[in-house]
Amino acid sequence: MIGTATVITAALAATAASARWNWWRPRVRGLPVLMYHKIGDYPPGSKLKKLWVTAGDFRRQMEWLKKNGFTTLTFTQLKNAEEGTSLMPAKPALVTFDDGYADNHELAFPVLAELGMKGNIFLVWDTVGRHNAWHDPASEPWLRMLTWRQIDEMRVSGVIEFGSHTVTHPNLARLSLEDAGWELRESKKRLEDKLGLPMVGFAYPYGAGAYDPAVRALAREAGYRYDFSIRQGISPLPWDPASGPLKRLLIRGDDFMLDFRLNMTRGRARL
Ligand SMILES: [Zn+2]
Repeated sequence: MIGTATVITAALAATAASARWNWWRPRVRGLPVLMYHKIGDYPPGSKLKKLWVTAGDFRRQMEWLKKNGFTTLTFTQLKNAEEGTSLMPAKPALVTFDDGYADNHELAFPVLAELGMKGNIFLVWDTVGRHNAWHDPASEPWLRMLTWRQIDEMRVSGVIEFGSHTVTHPNLARLSLEDAGWELRESKKRLEDKLGLPMVGFAYPYGAGAYDPAVRALAREAGYRYDFSIRQGISPLPWDPASGPLKRLLIRGDDFMLDFRLNMTRGRARL
């Protein structure tokens, strides 16, 4: 016989879990877009630990997507499927990485290649082959960024597509519209000339300007098919650009697999 104390304990545990995790929310259909930054172990003294996902966690998350029937796409594959020149998979998803850290090549690319999956990396033109100079090293040491050689290796493999994350990683909402427009157009043009590929996707640095109508209008005018915010959630598919930028799912270093599952199915893991 189950004791009253056990029942109360279980009820309290369920209440606590409900207050923290969103398992009780209805399932959300649409396009889950995973947002990663740095893959690997965070450096000593990092104040940005949550933006680091270990290589082991990343692999487990990719294996979960595969096991659960998700098809990861490049931006161009998504565009082709939306335009009807290829079939839309039953459960599409995008794996995206912001900034273009060298660890994406060293730790994420081999996992995606091995599992037959696709990823998309948003590059900052000025910092390719250098370090994340926009970043204040007081919160974390500067990191190595992808080199053109690494980018080319990933491009040729077909596993990774690239998008723009501006020329200098500014806060677009704080720039003049003239300067913001330059960042949006110039990064697209330079990356397209260098890589010989269209820049289909754009991610707003810090998410800034994504919901500012004037800034967003500039991003649309620059000719990106998909613009990505950092707002948490799953956007409906087919996606109407007039409804706002695509939402994403921030994958945090301290997430459990439960968080990952809830992000993918509910659009949100914790309250
Ligand atoms: Zn960024």
